[in-house]
Amino acid sequence: MRRRTIVSFHAHPDDEALLTGGTLARAAAAGHRVVLVVATDGEAGLASDAQLTTDLGELRRRELDRAAAALGCARVVRLGLPDSGWRDSTRADGAGFSRIDPVEAAAGLVDVLREEEADVLTTYDPAGGYGHPDHVQVHLVGAVAAARARTPVVLEATLPREPLHRLVRVAARIPGLLDAVDPTTFAAAFTPRSRITHRIDVRGHLAAKRAALGAHASQASSDVGPRTVALLLRLPEPAFALVAGREWFLDRRRPGLRTDDLFDGL
Ligand SMILES: [Zn+2]
Repeated sequence: MRRRTIVSFHAHPDDEALLTGGTLARAAAAGHRVVLVVATDGEAGLASDAQLTTDLGELRRRELDRAAAALGCARVVRLGLPDSGWRDSTRADGAGFSRIDPVEAAAGLVDVLREEEADVLTTYDPAGGYGHPDHVQVHLVGAVAAARARTPVVLEATLPREPLHRLVRVAARIPGLLDAVDPTTFAAAFTPRSRITHRIDVRGHLAAKRAALGAHASQASSDVGPRTVALLLRLPEPAFALVAGREWFLDRRRPGLRTDDLFDGL
């Protein structure tokens, strides 16, 4: 087996565990080099009132280190760009990762891709999953960086849209569960199932994925509505396997491809 290098690019600490944790753990366990690049420290992320008295960015940096260790990452790079925040927590000064010109914002990622001679870069789908502006920006910046560094394979982490949309419609009817979520947002979120190229079986790496999610404690104890991390960690083992046992990617240069292999085509 040839040892490959995968660079996984994310907006905030915890995104790596949620969207790609099993895939990264699987690649690392198989002996590949896994490098995590996170654009922001997530300092504008939702947290409980108690945590707002501490430095949330610093707390989330430590959580990211623990998560990366659980996944077997060889290196963690923080670009230290400002977290744009989300809806009601949006930064008042209008600064933020999502507002930086993608070409300018890509510089740090280009350096890492070149240093590492990366075989694969993971980014996000153009919708930014559920539409967080920093996630949309990961898609744009990732595309610019991969082109500049000539990274051969770019995989956009995503979810199949249809089952998620169904789930959100059902959950929205349960009072208190998803009060902050507008179910219509999900009609255009993520990627139609028919376009997904990589369906990665990560059931053998769920312990690592769960440990990585658990490392992001500040995101599991929010006072402001339910958080995905918290919901996932509350699931009993079989349900967790069902929800978290697969991860999905789109390689837009190879439509029609169907594979379980992250390094397919290299
Ligand atoms: Zn995020």
